[in-house]
Amino acid sequence: MELYRGTFAIVDLNAIAANIRRIAARLTAGTRLLVAVKANGYGHGAVEVAKTVLSAGATDLGVASLEEGLQLRAAGVDAPILVFGAVPPEAAPVAAANRIAIALTEDWSIRDVPACPIPLHVHIKVDTGMTRLGFRDPDDIIKSARWLDTRPDLQFAGVFTHLACADDMSSDSAYQQLQRLNEAVDALRTAGFPPPLVHAANSAGTLRDPAFHLDMVRVGISTYGYKPDVAFPSPVKLEPAMHLYAFITRVAKVPAGTRVGYGGTFETTRTTVVATVPVGYADGYPRWLSNQGEVVVRGQRAKVIGRVCMDQLMIDVTDVPGVEPGDCVTLYGREAPKRWTAAALSQVPTADQPDWLSRTFMQEASPAVAISLDELADLGHTISYELMCALAARVPRIYVDLVSNSF
Ligand SMILES: *Cc1c(COP(=O)(O)O)cnc(C)c1O
Repeated sequence: MELYRGTFAIVDLNAIAANIRRIAARLTAGTRLLVAVKANGYGHGAVEVAKTVLSAGATDLGVASLEEGLQLRAAGVDAPILVFGAVPPEAAPVAAANRIAIALTEDWSIRDVPACPIPLHVHIKVDTGMTRLGFRDPDDIIKSARWLDTRPDLQFAGVFTHLACADDMSSDSAYQQLQRLNEAVDALRTAGFPPPLVHAANSAGTLRDPAFHLDMVRVGISTYGYKPDVAFPSPVKLEPAMHLYAFITRVAKVPAGTRVGYGGTFETTRTTVVATVPVGYADGYPRWLSNQGEVVVRGQRAKVIGRVCMDQLMIDVTDVPGVEPGDCVTLYGREAPKRWTAAALSQVPTADQPDWLSRTFMQEASPAVAISLDELADLGHTISYELMCALAARVPRIYVDLVSNSF
């Protein structure tokens, strides 16, 4: 792994494992624990996250597309996988051949699903209030179960729904959704098709009330150490797993009246020390953090000044004594270990750099999160989910894992 640019993310697999263990400990006995690893594991790396959570107590994996499921299979992941999103009927044999379960999200009985080589597991999706995918009419649910029953190559594996507002403690709409799901389950039972597996809960439902646990929960965001909403009262400790760092490439003292960055949107009002950081919107540090974001360097906060560029941004370090090129900037997550400098890293043989970074992170990064994704997301009226998914493929991920690094 080349780290010449000096921009990298730490993905703390120990934190992910700890989050999963804490969530698993709250589940009603016998409840399966599916972890959503869609969108490259919310940016953390789908395969690494999958292996970590399975060894920490998760039983199932969830993805958004068949392609994402196939990527896990290609990496040797053996656990049950469910595709949440719509899969076209013609892809059903591929899903079956790879033992990937799919959601029946609309009435396929009118379509010609090709014969599957081995039984395809199908979960019927019920729209109980999200208005995104699934059957709304109970009669259509029964019809689908009946149709599945006519096909020996399609196996009715479960019924599920998705909660729209479970993170909003002032709303009881999640309970209404649960009620509608239960009605669908009752109707299926009465019609002679008892669902083998019933599931509804995302992280919010899982952490809010065991009433949502049913046969399986599907957690995403909490795995990665963030709450579904900043105001959501999580009953378990969640440790953020993703941390973004970059080494300063230039430090310049400029006079008052100097404009900074594209469009000259920031103008210094005093003699200002400007540091350049090799991170930009093409790395997933959004452009809307221009003149808004804050970073941590040498233990102090510094403001992003001027527009965030594609590959770089500038910060005001006038009030941070001693800042030099090569200093490590914490963009988000736990504050970088003091000894992380470009010069120190360059002393480590290239092949050993990832291990050195992960070991020193574990031993020396400040325990508290210095800049949380919730704080940055709030500045853009968005959520932590979007920021973690935005971390670009070009940013090397350094994995912190107690076991594989054998400290
Ligand atoms: C993404 C997703 C989840 C996980 O949601 P979180 O809020 O991240 O816990 C669960 N179920 C479905 C269908 C999803 O798409």
